[in-house]
Amino acid sequence: MRIANLSSRLVLLKRDRALDVEKASDGRFGPNPQSVYERWSEFTRWAADQDASAGDPFDPRDLGPAVPRPPQVFAIGLNYANHADESGLKLPENPMVFTKFVSSFTGADVEIELSGDTVDWEVELVAVIGEGGRDIPASEAWDHVAGLTIGQDVSDRTVQFWGEPAQFSIGKSLKGFAPIGPAVVTLDELASVADRSDLAIGCTLARADGSTEVLQSGRTRDMIFPIPELVERLSALVELLPGDVIFTGTPDGVGLGRTPRVYLEAGQSVTSEIEGLGSIRQRYVAS
Ligand code: ZN
Repeated sequence: MRIANLSSRLVLLKRDRALDVEKASDGRFGPNPQSVYERWSEFTRWAADQDASAGDPFDPRDLGPAVPRPPQVFAIGLNYANHADESGLKLPENPMVFTKFVSSFTGADVEIELSGDTVDWEVELVAVIGEGGRDIPASEAWDHVAGLTIGQDVSDRTVQFWGEPAQFSIGKSLKGFAPIGPAVVTLDELASVADRSDLAIGCTLARADGSTEVLQSGRTRDMIFPIPELVERLSALVELLPGDVIFTGTPDGVGLGRTPRVYLEAGQSVTSEIEGLGSIRQRYVAS
């Protein structure tokens, strides 16, 4: 199933239709798209019997962040070897973890204000935690993943590299810098379309003159720490909570890694796609 946030209400999506969960469940489940992860197994049992194609047509621009207020947001730096290379940074021996503050979360088809002239793109697979816990072994990690979605780890490189050490969390948490969506796709739904450990991932730039350019094109199998290992290593240190999200890092092709460096300009848009999950699109405007 595909779980989304439509105008701040929890919905199930099927193609161009959205089924409002509170109405369809006669109030058994509330409208808050974040609360569902606290009752994950109960919710999935109920949702399995629903037909979202009986829902209403919707405008994708009304899709808010698929997971709007995660209790914890983990983001992993340098999780693809080619991206670590292009960044001129060493491969990490342990996952490099920072956060994206939740006030930066936004929807699947939105405008983002450029905070300056060094705003960069990073398409990322985002894992959403269902049942939380501590000390979850990698072999059981997928049982704790509610689903997957698409994120852009939008980054202001000037703020990120203010001083030493770098300021990843704040440089990646400016207004609108964490679009995620369009929906949280559950693992059973993904099973029919792809190997969940090896998804095509990429993003494409569209310029104001109509020209386009593929910015990033990779495969999630190239992660240094795949999702099960991230769950094991994170949960060995902190308790994972229902509705947490993990931005799992970006493949190569970011603007910072180019010679000369290239950053986003007003009037451009970036479409980010992951196999089986759909796409999200952000238009960048001057602030
Ligand atoms: Zn990133």
